[in-house]
Amino acid sequence: MNVASRGHRPGSEATPESGADLRLGMAAGEVLDTAALIAWPLERMRGSLVVPGQRVELTRISPDREILLDAADLEWASPGPDAIARASDIAVSTGDMAGLSPVDLELLALAVERAATLVTDDYRLQNLCEKGGVPWLSVTMEGVRALWAWELRCTGCGAVLPTPESPNPSRELGNCVDCGSELGLRRKMD
Ligand SMILES: [Zn+2]
Repeated sequence: MNVASRGHRPGSEATPESGADLRLGMAAGEVLDTAALIAWPLERMRGSLVVPGQRVELTRISPDREILLDAADLEWASPGPDAIARASDIAVSTGDMAGLSPVDLELLALAVERAATLVTDDYRLQNLCEKGGVPWLSVTMEGVRALWAWELRCTGCGAVLPTPESPNPSRELGNCVDCGSELGLRRKMD
């Protein structure tokens, strides 16, 4: 079983409808790692917490994405010294400290400080969250769930296509088979 199912999320086998409810409920408190910044739809990130060091990472890994992020209304925040100390204690106690990047440690500390959920696919960070009692979610699972509330629709004729089953980091969604117009993701109204 993959590790994603171990996140502290009641009802992780949720239906699309309850997935939408969960998403609204947790909008206030998520710290996103850089993989989430790359993979998630901008709408899904709105209001999420990130640390300034990630902008540097992103500029290196995915400069186009870095430019788009200004539209996502992220909260850029640095954890205070108390939270850094708490995160360091957890990392030292598990023996993970040596393998953590400064950004990783700040992400963990920010989740601690804000009592937020850390969204990460990094096994080391997930392990630290488990040991430190910090809730976490997998980027991939949440990215898929996020798309359940969206539909793929033609910007020309309005035809609705089946929703993609995986996140689409490239945001190249293709063209309508009927009229050739670009496809776009629209929030599903139901
Ligand atoms: Zn069309």
